[in-house]
Formats: sequence, C-alpha cells, structure tokens
Amino acid sequence: MPAMPVDAFPIILAILAVALTASAMELRSSLQAPACPRCVHCRHAAMERRNQEERDRRALAKRLWGVDDVDDDDRGRRP
Ligand SMILES: [Zn+2]
Repeated sequence: MPAMPVDAFPIILAILAVALTASAMELRSSLQAPACPRCVHCRHAAMERRNQEERDRRALAKRLWGVDDVDDDDRGRRP
C-alpha cells in the first residue's frame, strides 16, 4: 500500500500543527511552572523534557519533509 497518499497530506499537516501547538504549550507551561520553582531537580526535569520534545519535533520534521529546521543536529553530523 502507498506510504503517504496525496489525499492524506492535509490531514497529516493538520495533525502536525496540532501536535506542534500542543508541545509548544506544554513547553511554555513547563518553563513557566516547574513543579517546585527553586528545585534544581525539577528544573532539570523540565529541561530534559524540553530537549526531548525538541528532538522529537526535529525528527518528525526530518521524516516528513527531509529537512532539518535547525542548523546543528545533536545526533552528530555527517562527514
Ligand atoms: Zn522539585
């Protein structure tokens, strides 16, 4: 079966937009309201979560469009 029919593309874009919006909101909330504001552990957890989301987002964009929207890639560059 076809991997990605043209008809499905707008739907995929819509889903992607929703996912980006959701992750952006989550990112903002995690930045604004860590579980305890002065706790290093919670700040670290929020940072890790943010990094993970960033990686997921980049991986998704790469898979969908074959582009990398950020210059450097922390998984290593090609020689
Ligand atoms: Zn804490």
